[in-house]
Parts: sequence; C-alpha cells; structure tokens
Amino acid sequence: MNTATSHALFTRALELMPGGVNSPVRAFKSVGGEPFFAARAEGAYLFDVDGNRYLDYIGSWGPMIAGHAHPAVLDAVAQTMRNGLSFGVPNPLEVTMAETVRRLVPSMQMMRMVNSGTEATLSAIRLARGATGRSRIVKFEGCYHGHGDSFLVKAGSGALTFGLPNSPGVPKALADLTLTLPYNDFEAATKLFGEVGHEIAGVIVEPIVGNANCILPRDGYLQHLRELCTQTGAILIFDEVMTGFRVALGGAQARYGVTPDLSTFGKIIGGGMPVGAYGGRADLMQQVAPAGPVYQAGTLSGNPVAMAAGLATLELIQAPGFHDRLEAATHVLCDGLEMAAREAGVAVTTTRSCAMFGLFFTDKKVETFADAVACDTAAFNRFFNAMLRRGVYFAPSAFEAGFLSSAHGEAELAFTIQAAREAFREVAA
Ligand code: PLP
Repeated sequence: MNTATSHALFTRALELMPGGVNSPVRAFKSVGGEPFFAARAEGAYLFDVDGNRYLDYIGSWGPMIAGHAHPAVLDAVAQTMRNGLSFGVPNPLEVTMAETVRRLVPSMQMMRMVNSGTEATLSAIRLARGATGRSRIVKFEGCYHGHGDSFLVKAGSGALTFGLPNSPGVPKALADLTLTLPYNDFEAATKLFGEVGHEIAGVIVEPIVGNANCILPRDGYLQHLRELCTQTGAILIFDEVMTGFRVALGGAQARYGVTPDLSTFGKIIGGGMPVGAYGGRADLMQQVAPAGPVYQAGTLSGNPVAMAAGLATLELIQAPGFHDRLEAATHVLCDGLEMAAREAGVAVTTTRSCAMFGLFFTDKKVETFADAVACDTAAFNRFFNAMLRRGVYFAPSAFEAGFLSSAHGEAELAFTIQAAREAFREVAA
C-alpha cells in the first residue's frame, strides 16, 4: 500500500500541530504507524490522498450512521448555505431541530444546542450543580465525556476519597469534587450514595460504555442508578453523545426504558457538522440563561448549516426498519468475526448494541472496565494493522467501540469477515 503522500503530510503536520493532529486518537499512537490523510469519503468508504480505499468502521467517530457523503445530507447543506453560513439571530431550523429531537427522545422536554459533545456534557454538569446547589459529581471508570476539567479525573484510592487530576492543568481542588465509580457495580453505587448521596449534584454515565471498547449495562443497572438519584435528589445525566440515535431511534434510554433527568447528544445529531445538545426536564432547563441564572452561550450554537445536516440525518434514520437492518448487519459482522477468530485459534469475544459493537481479545465475558483492561491489547494492535493493510479501518485503539452505517451492505460485511480470517491468522502466527 503506497502511503507516500500521507507520510509527507504527516511530517509537515508534526511540526505544526501537537502530535500532528487536531484530536489525539487520530495519531495512531496506541497501534503504531502513521495516520492516513483522507481526501474524500463515500458510503462505507474513506479514500486517502494516495488513492487507497478503506472500508470504514468508525464513521467519523459516530456521526455518519447513514454513510459518508449521503446525497440527502449534502443537498440539505448545499441548499441551506446559499442563504448564509451564520446569522447570530434565531433561525427556523433550530425550532425544527428541537421539535424533532423531542419527538424522538421524549425526555428532552427542552434543550439547548451547542457545538460539540464536550460542550454538552460540561454544560449539563454546570446545570446539575446550579439546580441542586451541590458541588460533587459522579462518573464511571472507562466512560469518556469529552475534555471538560471535571471529567479528566481518575479515582483516588477508594471511591470515597477525592478524585485525582488525570491531566496536568486540571486543578486538584476541582478534581476533588469528581467521584469515580466502577461501571456495572451495583454495590459500589449503593455504598457511595449511602454515604454522600445528598452531596451529589449529578451522576453522568454513558448508558452503554463506548469509550472502553463497548460494554453493555448489566440487567437493572441503569434502573439502579435512576433509583439512587431519585432517592437523593441527584440529577441523572445520560451521556448519549455516542449512543443517541444509534442504538435505537430514542437512544439507550429508549432501549433500556430508563428516563434520565438530563441527556447529552453529539455526533449523529449534527450529521457530520460540529453539533452537540443537552436537555431534559423542563424545570431544569428553565434554569439555563436567559430563562434562568445558570449561564451558557455560544456564538455559533444552532448554526443553520449544522442544523440542516443534522436534520437531514435524523430524517434518514427515521425510515421504517432503519435500526432493525443495522442491528441485523451488526450481528452478521460480529458472528463472522467470532467465527473467523475461532478458526484461527484466537480468543475473541464481541458485544453489540444495534449499530455499535465491541471486539475484545479475550475468551471471557466483558462487563466491567477491569475486564476490558485485562484484554490482550498487543493482539488487538496486530489485528488492527493486519486489517488496515487489507483496506479495513477499525478504530486505532483497543478501547473504542466500532460503528456500522446503513451503507455497510452484505458485500462490505463479507469482505470484512474474509479480511478478518486472514488477519486473525496473522495474530495467531
Ligand atoms: N461523550 C461521549 C460519550 C463521547 O464519546 C464523546 C466523544 O467521543 C464526547 C462526549 C465528547 O464529544 P466531542 O468530541 O464532540 O467533544
């Protein structure tokens, strides 16, 4: 595979941007090698600047659930942008977007559009703190909520001790306010809430963890968190930046029948443009400026072109059977990968939820962050590179979920499984 142009670009980029990239995971640091530079994308495929084609299981880290460069999305963007790129006053598409989101996710009684998932989560936490008058927040090991200071915190020794900054630049005084629990551990949550429940402003959780590969909630776990929050007055926040509109039209909250107080969205809601949203209970959202005292704002929030791309994507995913077809495709892929690994004598297990999946190099069931960390990441890295050489692009990290789109048809799945047969043989060698 010739990657000379990508290599030349990366060499230039390394002098200009930290690690040569504008977001760390793109740098391929954990899997080795260098990133390729995309020239264009279409359907299930990315094309690099050297003319190589890659079957893409990342979909721009989630937004491209209808496939890259979908004509309906591109047309909506092209039409809307002719009227101007940004107005700085309200535009009708913001109202249509809010009505659409509330119809698809009824817990979103009111909402605010922002420009990224990070903005959505840090705004939701500020609202939880402002509405409750409490300062502490709870998050879970292995979950990622963007790069807000309150989230870049790791557990201290024992969940009840203060959190420790996970990055230089996060003040210890702020990290102290973030408590970290093991995901899927009922007892740890009960214990924490028993001791400090009435000091907790909000609990933020990825209802399905997509940032430690892909870990599904144990039966009743999200309900358990709901009950603990209801009993103590803590605000339950589902971070559906990844799961929203992906694991079901109504997100993970619809799939598991648990209603959070607030939710955050990103990725699919913008159809590939920079968009996020947070919202939920009307009484809480009425506390956001200018209706209420909790401040939050954005020069480009609700941008018409971004709303057009998001709305066109939300339109596409409402087609009858859209998610059912994705779910069926994910099963074909994951069953095929497991079978290919077995044939090669490589221990692999998968998790799936509609258009999202996890691939773990282990023979054990993965239900916790500790389970995910215990997997063979060196084997994953070999598999990743072996697949890339065959033109199949999985996430360049053992701790990222995989994504399917409606453009991944039978031919793409068959091609992937055949490539995986060969790649697993390389891993076993
Ligand atoms: N929350 C979750 C669950 C995410 O997966 C991500 C990003 O991957 C974020 C928040 C942050 O979103 P963004 O990268 O748009 O800031």
